[in-house]
Amino acid sequence: MILKSEIRWPFLLLLALCGSLQAQQACDWQQRVDYTMDVSMDVKTFRYSGKQELIYTNNSPDTLSRVFYHMYFNAFQPGSEMDRRLQAISDPDTRMVEGGKSRISALSPDQIGYLRALSLSQDGQPLVPQPEGTILVVPLARPLLPGQSTTLTMDFEGQVPLQIRRSGRNNSEDVALSMSQWYPKIAEYDYEGWHADPYIAREFYGVWGDFDVRLTIDKKYVVGGSGYLQNPQETGHGYQAPGTTVNPPKGPTLTWHFKAPDVHDFMWAADPEFLHDTLRVKDGPLLHFFYKNKPEILDNWKKLQPKTAEAMEFYSRNIGPYPYRQYSVVQGGDGGMEYAMSTLITGERKFSSLVGTMAHELAHSWFQHVLGTNESEHPWMDEGFTTFISNLCMNKLMDQQAQNPFENMYKGYYSLVQSGREQPQSTHSDRYEYNFAYGLSAYNKGGVFLAQLGYVIGSDQLMQTLRSYFNKYKFRHPTPNDFIRTAEKVSGMELGWYLNDWTRTTNTIDYGIVDVKEEGNNTRLTLKRIGLMPMPLDILVVYQDGHKATYYVPLRMMRGEKENPYFGVERTVLEDWPWAFPTYEISISGPTSEIQAIIVDPSHLMADVDRTNNEWQPSP
Ligand SMILES: [Zn+2]
Repeated sequence: MILKSEIRWPFLLLLALCGSLQAQQACDWQQRVDYTMDVSMDVKTFRYSGKQELIYTNNSPDTLSRVFYHMYFNAFQPGSEMDRRLQAISDPDTRMVEGGKSRISALSPDQIGYLRALSLSQDGQPLVPQPEGTILVVPLARPLLPGQSTTLTMDFEGQVPLQIRRSGRNNSEDVALSMSQWYPKIAEYDYEGWHADPYIAREFYGVWGDFDVRLTIDKKYVVGGSGYLQNPQETGHGYQAPGTTVNPPKGPTLTWHFKAPDVHDFMWAADPEFLHDTLRVKDGPLLHFFYKNKPEILDNWKKLQPKTAEAMEFYSRNIGPYPYRQYSVVQGGDGGMEYAMSTLITGERKFSSLVGTMAHELAHSWFQHVLGTNESEHPWMDEGFTTFISNLCMNKLMDQQAQNPFENMYKGYYSLVQSGREQPQSTHSDRYEYNFAYGLSAYNKGGVFLAQLGYVIGSDQLMQTLRSYFNKYKFRHPTPNDFIRTAEKVSGMELGWYLNDWTRTTNTIDYGIVDVKEEGNNTRLTLKRIGLMPMPLDILVVYQDGHKATYYVPLRMMRGEKENPYFGVERTVLEDWPWAFPTYEISISGPTSEIQAIIVDPSHLMADVDRTNNEWQPSP
């Protein structure tokens, strides 16, 4: 059967038994912040100090009497909320415990992380900030009226914690500095109000703006990360124009000047042993790679480079053009984490894992760093969408040609349902009782949200929805409702039920064949809706002579029909199935004796939690 989508799905999964089958509306306003920072890092003590000037513009219709900053490094102290949560949760992140004990609780004063405001003023008037764990509460000297800007100036000092989670010093692969969430970061204020979430486990949400960062560090260190380097002829280390001479200033340190426009985060990493390669994507951005000079990883990190270019082209083609001139893959952190124009990934992996991690984190450049969803509230929108598109990308990149590239994604969701520990996806990401339930919900169930939406509206319509969503909401903070409204406009269907049941409840899908009966020259098929969540149905009939037909049962509340997904197979569009009706009958042409198999959802894209009742075959 011919599938017309470029990325070739849905797949009509074949029955192994049948030999003959081989053949919410985002605000129209958003806040803005422009950061200018001058920071100095002591590579011996891992302490740093800096000055931050922040121009904050209140585009909201509200008068603000206070602002909040995230001081993330304060999480890495014994007794912090992150530490206490780590001790209380029954399935802690294995990276954060040692011998069954919280690694944070064991940090000595010179190993902890901290970030402190030494002074803070608003347009020259001193402010009195109140630290509350990882949040700095700042009453303003003068209320900030709608449409006004104010300049907030801060002197700050910090200590880089021993690497526990995401950022830190001396990670498990000896990368000296993985500097993410390292600076005083103003919290976002949107149509829901302030988002001054404490840093407990996950994840991030920030204000869009421009960053201008000057970073002074020991000359031997190679720095990579979010911004465009402004002074490559001074820094060298692989940034200088090919064939030119570098003119570093005298003295033991170098000042690196970076600018990152239209981002909501700024990451950097540094190590004296970093190798630095670059590769230009055809008609696209310049890719930078920073990795340790260790013989056992060099080959993988070289082979990773063209794969990164391929992935960049895949996402640009299928979601929308990557909007920056640069992207950096940096060895560091504790697994893989996405940042603006960059990622930190651990690098001592087998090749497929290295490419898989890169492909996942790079996809976040779209689903988080250009479409800036609130990761704390809707982690399925960045992790799930990323999982979906990176599965498709990996299928192409590694030439896997899996019959169903989403198989593991669905398996994970089914295991979540079977665990009995599922919480609705609308749960705040810190408020899951179990880490594993968060993971399966955000990544797997979030990915299934898209793949299954492709089943509902058609795969071409889904891919069109992604492109349209990207185009409309890039550099903004789209909400779940923004996404589903986009899908509604593209498909012409009503889809509120889909968003609601899937993301705000733990309702499951289960349809089953309850009866197959011969009726003259036809066959009467009786179907039952067993699960609470409604879905439209595709039913495949395979005849004894090998020919196939499909029957399509639209869901009434969907108020629309998808195109025939199976080219070359005759399709009969039936009457709508109203959700409240528990059963539905279909008259299939041909006597039962001529039928070899009947299959509800041959694509396996509908997340039916019990597929044992989806297939019928005549008893031998
Ligand atoms: Zn991710």
